[in-house]
Amino acid sequence: MPQLGYGVWQVPDDEAERSVATALQAGYRSIDTAAIYGNEEGTGKAIAASGLPREEIFVTTKVWNSDQGYDATLRAFDTSLAKLGLDYVDLYLIHWPLPSRDAYVDTYKAFEKLYADKRVRAIGVSNFLPEHLRRLTEETSVVPAVNQIELHPHLQQRASRAVHGELGIATEAWSPLGQGKGLLEVPAIVAIARKHDRTPAQVVLRWHLQLGNIVIPKSVTPSRIEENIAVFDFSLDDEDLAAISALNEDRRLGPDPATFDMA
Ligand code: NAD
Repeated sequence: MPQLGYGVWQVPDDEAERSVATALQAGYRSIDTAAIYGNEEGTGKAIAASGLPREEIFVTTKVWNSDQGYDATLRAFDTSLAKLGLDYVDLYLIHWPLPSRDAYVDTYKAFEKLYADKRVRAIGVSNFLPEHLRRLTEETSVVPAVNQIELHPHLQQRASRAVHGELGIATEAWSPLGQGKGLLEVPAIVAIARKHDRTPAQVVLRWHLQLGNIVIPKSVTPSRIEENIAVFDFSLDDEDLAAISALNEDRRLGPDPATFDMA
């Protein structure tokens, strides 16, 4: 899986077709969508139109909450695959654990069937807390390849990252730029950006990459799509990394996975 990909949350279907095309042209080779985003069709159209060989593009999608459970998940996967116009996806994720519904183990067993049938190349989860990961690894046999969680300098998720390391799960950061809300104006980040003659967004993405996180920044602005992938030709030094790591506030922008239960 490429360590940096392109996320399409909140991008309408027709716009996703254009912005995914722009991202593929800019060199992105990993796309993160989800059934609930309503843009699997546009994403698939852009992939088909790119002319790139299928095996060069890494496609992630996610099963939505209302489709959790063994049979519903298998049906939802067929729908996602048809919308994407693909015959396999590279990574399929359980979007939220919904602990109060207690269906994620059965959902994951459907994922294991899709994996055994080679309809997905890898399976994983999103928004899982350490206790959900431990239960999965006790009750199922395929270790999730990734856990995609909210992670940015204001929410560094040290406990989850440690558990991922212990269980052999890759950490993928959603909202890696903190949704652009304020984080990119934080003086410490602006100062590091000036020092390297880079933008704050590039500095934050570089911090993730050097920590070992997978990132999927989103933008629909072509210049930002290009800016966000131009992060492989500079590095932050130890002092920069420490200054960004000091910004942790354990502050979420999104819902708490322990209680989030939207259908
Ligand atoms: P993000 O942190 O990627 O921020 C995106 C916003 O930051 C943009 O809308 C724009 O306003 C701003 N931005 C982007 N590039 C910029 C730049 N170079 N300079 C200045 N501002 C810039 O937030 P996100 O979209 O929430 O997260 C990224 C992806 O993560 C999503 O598209 C989606 O694929 C995934 N995601 C997953 C979940 C989940 O529950 N699994 C939840 C949220 C997001």
